[in-house]
Amino acid sequence: MSTIADNILYFDERLRNTPCRLVAVTKTHPVEKIMEAYDAGHRLFGENKVQELVEKREQLPHDIAWHLIGHLQTNKVKYIASFIDTIQSVDSLKLLAEINRRAEQVNRTFPVNCMLQISIADEETKYGMDYEEAVALLQSDEYRNMHYIRITGVMGIATNTDDQEKLRQEFRYLRSCFEKLRDTFFISNPDFREISMGMTSDWELALEEGSTMIRVGSGIFGARNYLKK
Ligand SMILES: *Cc1c(COP(=O)(O)O)cnc(C)c1O
Repeated sequence: MSTIADNILYFDERLRNTPCRLVAVTKTHPVEKIMEAYDAGHRLFGENKVQELVEKREQLPHDIAWHLIGHLQTNKVKYIASFIDTIQSVDSLKLLAEINRRAEQVNRTFPVNCMLQISIADEETKYGMDYEEAVALLQSDEYRNMHYIRITGVMGIATNTDDQEKLRQEFRYLRSCFEKLRDTFFISNPDFREISMGMTSDWELALEEGSTMIRVGSGIFGARNYLKK
């Protein structure tokens, strides 16, 4: 069986000479396991729940860049506003406004990186905006007046399926959304450059379709056990 360090090394090698980075997804895994990845040199980690993120962050070195990848309720923004590197799961203008407000309140010296979560799966998923909503957000006066936000790209969660052609279509769709938003709202603004797509089962396909950030959990840390705490 490969160790966590082996897995980190494997992804380092596979992503070398690509524009793609690895977000190591640590949900349900204890800090000891996260430290194995850290000791192998990894510094970019993702969690999908605020409470778990805050608890782990306190016990781990502070040069980790934390990405929130799960749905964020506005009333929880205050717990992460001081330290979060990137919120990948921005799905409304209201949420973005709260992130901006809380970041200002804690006097952040660098903006919160935010990615617009676009719904790309055809199943009725609860979260994510459609393309038109993302356009409306970026067009709004409210967004233009947010000084503690930097929009760095888009994120999508594909359908949970083995159907490669379907996955490819969804990744292509996200990429096309990214390109249209970039060409409309971020001309000559290099901050907008990320397409976060691909997980353990489909990251190679996502990479082929232009992913700049894959989010891999079980492929690094092993299967999740949601019962054990
Ligand atoms: C859990 C999770 C992942 C990682 O899933 P794996 O299949 O374990 O790689 C990626 N993205 C999001 C949003 C997740 O919640």
